[in-house]
Amino acid sequence: MSRREELVASLAAVRGRLADACAAAGRRPDEVTLVAVTKTRPVEDVALLAELGVRDVAESKDQEAAPKAAALPGLTWHFVGRLQRNKARSVAAYASVVHSVDRAPLVDALADGAARAGRDLDVLLQVSLDGDPERGGVLPADLLPLAERVASAGPLRLRGVMAVAPQGADPGASFAELQALAERLRAEHPSASWVSAGMSGDLEAAVAHGSTHVRVGTALLGQRPPLSR
Ligand SMILES: *Cc1c(COP(=O)(O)O)cnc(C)c1O
Repeated sequence: MSRREELVASLAAVRGRLADACAAAGRRPDEVTLVAVTKTRPVEDVALLAELGVRDVAESKDQEAAPKAAALPGLTWHFVGRLQRNKARSVAAYASVVHSVDRAPLVDALADGAARAGRDLDVLLQVSLDGDPERGGVLPADLLPLAERVASAGPLRLRGVMAVAPQGADPGASFAELQALAERLRAEHPSASWVSAGMSGDLEAAVAHGSTHVRVGTALLGQRPPLSR
């Protein structure tokens, strides 16, 4: 099988899972955007996915994302990894959406980067559902103050929340907690209607709890090399 044929098959399988999950949840398939996570994959894979109709792609490291985005500028680039403040200006120049905003200095750096690039940037606040600082994310108690900061930063648009389900926990319970936080945020910030939740292993649970953006890597592209993160 050629790489293209492999991707045709895996994309159909993921789209099928999403359609089933939406049907089970009584949601329309067009309510959920598939974001292909292409970290560690060659840019040729990204180009093939684009040919097959994928428009939204995500990366987690600036040094890898920047050249890929430069090679394929017609796609919508999402940034989903832990982001250092000194990389914010670079990311703001090519990303349309940053999913991993979790602290005030990063908000300020992204706002500055977006202003310099003359672009608007969609921002999701990454929420920590288990308090593990290694994985990043703002604690639920600090979500609304951070949202205020984004909402008052000129070129940033507050679009919603993102989370990774804690390992070992029931993803349904985790995504239910995220959904409740998303609703509280949206009550104060109507633009914050996106919920970035669900990956290869748990997208069904995320769709059941209101996910609008699933971030899928391995189910589309196969196992990543083990030490590449
Ligand atoms: C790598 C990654 C994904 C994709 O995970 P898979 O299990 O490969 O689908 C999603 N979200 C984030 C933040 C990631 O770093």
